[in-house]
Amino acid sequence: MHEFSVAQAILDVVLRAAHEHGAKRVLEVTLEVGELSFLSLEQLELSFKVLSEGTIAEGAELKFEVKRASIRCLRCGYEGEASAPEPESHLLPLAVQCPACSSLETVILDGRGCVVRSIRAERS
Ligand SMILES: [Zn+2]
Repeated sequence: MHEFSVAQAILDVVLRAAHEHGAKRVLEVTLEVGELSFLSLEQLELSFKVLSEGTIAEGAELKFEVKRASIRCLRCGYEGEASAPEPESHLLPLAVQCPACSSLETVILDGRGCVVRSIRAERS
């Protein structure tokens, strides 16, 4: 399950940051999830909950911010946000249509990953 490994990576980042700041308990984690990551937020939340059991991040609330996809068009040179294709219709390799000229010859610049945006924790 893809979400499980992503949740593990998130937890590693969260725990490392918490230790660096001397936090005793993690209260809230805000994640930036790319529109093209096709992660199930429900699965991600569940995986995080299971993995964080017994750590200082146990019980932390996950918040999600969706990051829009951005592309560069190889045909017309457009660079910027674009609409993600429907998850069920995406074929590999994933092609995102240029909103300016409708070309599918595009390079994805951003919107595929999932990163930890901020962490709220308490020290005592
Ligand atoms: Zn274009």
